[in-house]
Amino acid sequence: MAEPVRRVVILGGGTAGWMTAAALSKALARSGTEITLVESEEIGTVGVGEATIPTIHWFNSLIGLDEAQFMADTGATHKLGIEFRGWQGDESAYFHPFGTYGAPGDAAMMAHRLTRARLGGDATSIEDYSLTTQAARARRFAKPVNDPRSLLSTLGYAFHFDAALYARHLRGLSESRGVIRIEGRVARVERQENGDIRALVTETGQTVPGDLFIDCSGFRGLLIEQEMAAGYEDWSHWLPCDAAWAAPSAPEIERTPYTQAIAQEAGWRWRIPLQHRVGNGYVFATRFQSPDAACDTLVKAMDAAPTAEPRLIRFTPGRRRKSWVGNVVAIGLASGFIEPLESTSIHLIQSGIGKLLSLFPRRTGSALLAEQYNRIAAREIEEVRDFVILHYHLTRGRSEPLWRQCQAMPIPETLAYRIDQFRHSGRIMLSPDELFRDASWLAVLTGQGVRAEDYNPLLDTMSDADNAAQLASVRRAIRDTAAKLPAIGALRPTT
Ligand code: FAD
Repeated sequence: MAEPVRRVVILGGGTAGWMTAAALSKALARSGTEITLVESEEIGTVGVGEATIPTIHWFNSLIGLDEAQFMADTGATHKLGIEFRGWQGDESAYFHPFGTYGAPGDAAMMAHRLTRARLGGDATSIEDYSLTTQAARARRFAKPVNDPRSLLSTLGYAFHFDAALYARHLRGLSESRGVIRIEGRVARVERQENGDIRALVTETGQTVPGDLFIDCSGFRGLLIEQEMAAGYEDWSHWLPCDAAWAAPSAPEIERTPYTQAIAQEAGWRWRIPLQHRVGNGYVFATRFQSPDAACDTLVKAMDAAPTAEPRLIRFTPGRRRKSWVGNVVAIGLASGFIEPLESTSIHLIQSGIGKLLSLFPRRTGSALLAEQYNRIAAREIEEVRDFVILHYHLTRGRSEPLWRQCQAMPIPETLAYRIDQFRHSGRIMLSPDELFRDASWLAVLTGQGVRAEDYNPLLDTMSDADNAAQLASVRRAIRDTAAKLPAIGALRPTT
C-alpha cells in the first residue's frame, strides 16, 4: 500500500483557503500530516462573499465551530432566505425562503395542493404557506426544532457574515490546531518528473514542499490553470454578468433577516445586513453598462451613502474543466465561479472540501479518485448554474437589453426540460443529492411567473373542499406560529 500524504500545502488565505485549512486540520488531527498555508497579504483576497445557505451548518459542525462565538467574531446575522425585487417588473417582489412549505411532512405534495387550489380559483399567496417567509417578513427569528410534529421543523436559516472576519476566525482556529501559515507571494513552482508539483517557491526564495497541493489562489488559479492547464468552460452566454461593484454602508437599526437581490438595468444589486454594516453590491454585465455608470447606479440606489470607496471585481462565469489534476485540487474561485445570486460559492467550497475528505488520496495519488471528484464537481456546479439561469431567463416586465437577451437566449436542455415539466405537469423531479430542493424550485418558478397547468392526480383521492380546508388550516397555523416567534430586535446579536 502506498505511503499516506504527509504534507498538504494550501495556496491562498481567502475564504476557500482557510475553510480548507480548518477542515483538514480537524480531519487529519493526530495523523501526523503537516498542513501549511501560503498567502500573500500584498495580493489580498476577493473580500466579498457575505451570504450563505443552510448547508453552512454542515461545515460549521464538521470543523467544530462554536456558533455564538463565530457570530460575534464575524459580525454575522441570521439569514432566512432571499427577497427578489423587480424581477417581474419594478414593483414585484417574491421570497425564496429556506426550510419547507406547508406543515411538517407536506413538502412532497405542497406544489400539487397549491396548484389544485389555484386552478379552482384560490388566490392566496405561496408566501402564506412558508413559516420562514412569514418570520422573515415580520423580522422574527427562531431556529428550526428537530421534531417532525412541530411547525418549527419547517424553518431554515443560514448566515450573513463579514468574509474577511470569517477568514480571520478560521485562521485562528486552524493555527490553534497546528496549521503553519507562511506569508509570501509564490513566484515559482517546482515540478516532479511525472508533472506533479513538488514545491512552491516564494519571492524571497522560501521553498514549501508538499505531497498534495490545494489551489485556493482565487480567480487566477495559479496551480490548477497556470501550472496544470486544466482549462476553463466559459458560461458567459448564459450568465452575462462579468463584474461587480461592492460597497459597505452604515448598519441598519432594525435588521432585515434576509438578503435582497434587486433587479437593475444591467444586472442586479445585493443588500446584505451585517451587525456592523450593510454590504451592498451591483453585479452587472459590462457589455450593457460601463463600470463608471454601474458604480453610479449602485451608489444612487443604496439607501445610505457608502462608508468606503466602492470596489470593482471582474470575473468570468464558468468552471474549471478539471478541479483535480495530478496532485493539485482546486477549491473556491480557483475551481470556477457562478455569480452570487443564490449565495452558492461558499457552499461549493465546503462541498469541494467534503469530496476531498471522502476521496482523500495516498501519496502516489489516484487517477480514479481525481476522475470521480471531477465528475461530481462538474455536476454540482452545473446544477447551481441552471438554477441561477432560471432567474435570468424567466424575468418579465423588464425591457433593458440585458433582460431582453436573457429572455431570448437558448438555455441548457436540462433546465428547459425542468421548466416544461413543471409548467405542464406540476412536477419538480430532482435527483436525491441536488442542492436546491423542491421548495427552492417551487419558490423561484412561482416567483418568476411560471404557473403549473396540472397537478399529481394522486391528490384526487381528496375532495377540492378538503384540500381547501386543509390549506386554510395550514395558513392559519403558520400565521399564528409566526406571530409568536421572537422579534429580531429582542435577540442579542450572538444568539
Ligand atoms: P480569494 O479570496 O481571491 O483568495 C485568494 C488567495 O490566494 C488570497 O489569499 C491571495 O493572497 C492568495 N494568492 C493568490 N496568488 C498568490 C500567490 N502568487 N502567492 C501567494 N498567495 C497567493 N460567495 C458566497 O457564498 N456568498 C456570497 O454572497 C458571495 N458574494 C460574492 C460576490 C462577488 C462579487 C464575488 C466575486 C464573489 C462572491 N462570493 C460569494 C464568492 C466568494 O467571495 C468566494 O467564493 C470566496 O471568497 C472564496 O474566494 P477564494 O478564497 O477562492 O479566493
